[in-house]
Amino acid sequence: MEPYPNLADLLLDARELVECESPSADLAAVARSADVVARVGTRRLGVEPERIVLEGRTHLRWRLGGSPSRVLVLGHHDTVWPLGTLATHPCTIEGGVLRGPGCFDMKAGLAMAFHAVAGLDARDGVTILVTGDEELGSPSSRALVEDEARASHAALVLEASADGGALKTERKGVSLYDVRLTGRAAHAGLEPERGVNATLELAHQVLLVAALADPAAGTTVTPTLAHSGTTTNTVPALGSFAVDVRVRSVAEQDRVDAGIRALRSVLPGADVEVLGGPNRPPLEAVASAALLQRAVRLAERLGLPPPTSTAVGGASDGNFTAGVGTPTLDGLGAAGGGAHADHEHVLVEELLDRTALLGALVADLLAHPTNVPELTGGARP
Ligand SMILES: [Zn+2]
Repeated sequence: MEPYPNLADLLLDARELVECESPSADLAAVARSADVVARVGTRRLGVEPERIVLEGRTHLRWRLGGSPSRVLVLGHHDTVWPLGTLATHPCTIEGGVLRGPGCFDMKAGLAMAFHAVAGLDARDGVTILVTGDEELGSPSSRALVEDEARASHAALVLEASADGGALKTERKGVSLYDVRLTGRAAHAGLEPERGVNATLELAHQVLLVAALADPAAGTTVTPTLAHSGTTTNTVPALGSFAVDVRVRSVAEQDRVDAGIRALRSVLPGADVEVLGGPNRPPLEAVASAALLQRAVRLAERLGLPPPTSTAVGGASDGNFTAGVGTPTLDGLGAAGGGAHADHEHVLVEELLDRTALLGALVADLLAHPTNVPELTGGARP
């Protein structure tokens, strides 16, 4: 059985990580943070990471042992907090609560990953990937995340847990569109009949798009930002509106995509153009089911209460790992609350049990990888 980590060391590491601020968009800050993550990880793992800089954004990868990667442990070290947040929200550990910018999302999770893997008897085949742009939607690291996921039997994501410490076994996929309408301008008083009204066309299209939603399937299709026209007395020649789509399944993401691409103008002489498309695939429940069962079994073996699980709307890099067909379990990081909010915090008393469960999961996946079924549905090439 994997030994329990030492709480004092774990907290020391979490604090060191939190005390180096790392807003995603500040490349120098993220690079400095990567230095700290590398130092902390190397201290626990005894191995230095590869430093991977893509488009100026700094990511770290530890490959443990000489064999090909089988288990991907995935996290990020960037946060949503601007430089200077520590001055108003210092890192503190009081009354069993750890606070500080990015502690819950997800620096405590990084410390947990290092301690969980460091405690294993065998760790050959484990890859730990810590990216530096997740909060931006992983613009530079997406391909890296997907490649590492494809090479592994399973992806364990150290994002913060949901309410009550629940694992995240389902995350909605996101598609974003910009629908552009072209009409023809004319004077609204003198000869409006010579115009083609892009605002009217927009109104038709907004309703058609909204009708693609399917609440029973969990699919929301929300027209959001809209613009059209130039002056109050001109038949509008141009209009556009944005669409935010959230789906629970790839099938729904494809259905809505086909529906939006099939839009045709309603008014004679008007034109419709669709830009955008799927942004993140959904993390479907099927991608997590076997790993969740495994976690429940291992928790029982460790004498811990069975982990709970939940579906969430927000996306993470777990969407990408599941999107390439790799079984994925997300929300394995700290228990606490307040991600991206002033009351962000980590519950100290949960840290050791969750780290032990993470270590047990990695060990079990290394020993019994074949119990993870290949995903048949839901995988995108
Ligand atoms: Zn996060």
